[in-house]
Amino acid sequence: MKHDRINIITSAPGEPEAAVLIIYTGGTFGMIHDESGALQPFDFSSILEHIPALRQLELKLTVFAFETPVDSSNMIPGIWKKIGKLIFEEYDHFDGFVVLHGTDTMAYSASALSFMLQNLSKPVIFTGAQLPISSLRSDARENLINALEIAAAKVNGRVLVPEVCIYFDYKLFRGNRTKKVESVFFDAFNSENYPALAESGVEINYNLSAISPNTDAELILHDKFVDQIAILKIFPGMNKSYVKAILAAPGLKGVILETYGAGNAPTFDWFVNALAASIRSGISVLNISQCPGGRVQQGRYQTSKQLLEIGVIDGKDLTLEAAIAKLMITLAQASDKSEIEHKIKRSWCGELSEK
Ligand code: ASP
Repeated sequence: MKHDRINIITSAPGEPEAAVLIIYTGGTFGMIHDESGALQPFDFSSILEHIPALRQLELKLTVFAFETPVDSSNMIPGIWKKIGKLIFEEYDHFDGFVVLHGTDTMAYSASALSFMLQNLSKPVIFTGAQLPISSLRSDARENLINALEIAAAKVNGRVLVPEVCIYFDYKLFRGNRTKKVESVFFDAFNSENYPALAESGVEINYNLSAISPNTDAELILHDKFVDQIAILKIFPGMNKSYVKAILAAPGLKGVILETYGAGNAPTFDWFVNALAASIRSGISVLNISQCPGGRVQQGRYQTSKQLLEIGVIDGKDLTLEAAIAKLMITLAQASDKSEIEHKIKRSWCGELSEK
């Protein structure tokens, strides 16, 4: 997948305060209406025509624009690898990174990047828009300008937000805690189990106690994924053949069990036995709640005790989006059952509450 390099000349006087790399992957943000009224990806080199205010930023801006922008419904780990590699290779040349991405799978990609970039000490801010940049009421301008300011933010030379985040509709969230919750209004994202890292108003107010501490350790890129995983969402009335078909998928290595409430599931023998047999055959099963807020607590109710006993891994308060990326990366790094469990239950970069 190729990309073009575009330098944006801001006319701000004096030395730029910071250098920021924008990685434009696609999504609604970069759409414009053609003569027939249809939405088409725009040419990123014309960004100043759409957002002239960028000229006022005292930043050195460079854009890597995907030659073929992707609607994020077509996101795959291969594109996560490309984004991760670009950031890794350009890491020393920029103070921060902004990734322009479709909103549909932004939370999955931000989660994946947070796990891929170990020891991150610079901001990687994902953003996008609910309305295309060509629309009069588009949220693209506000989202991009704030994301750039956050990507460049420092205090006494120290980076303020050394994390992979999502900035959207005046709020900054930890990427791996975020979910897309709205497809019509502008407040598309939320993070039920972790406070916002910043809020933008007259000023950008940073929630310093919620932001990860900075590290001097060297950046490490993890770019291997095992995609032989499945999601088994439980629901009242699910039948045996549905469960068995999922667990019998060829080559299956991991299953995310989407349970009720605090991690509860049916206690029917056929269901528990099917899961137990999969675990015995070497498949890792991870318990994630269907509730966006709260956490899994295996053993709290009778209806989750058996899951604990057969070796289902407690996913605590991981989002489904973070669980998918974490499971894919973990399975690429470990094959031993207890090592997989240990890795999943440990917080790598603030994605779950260990206690
Ligand atoms: N389908 C679009 C995407 O995710 C939606 C958006 O960008 O908001 O790429």
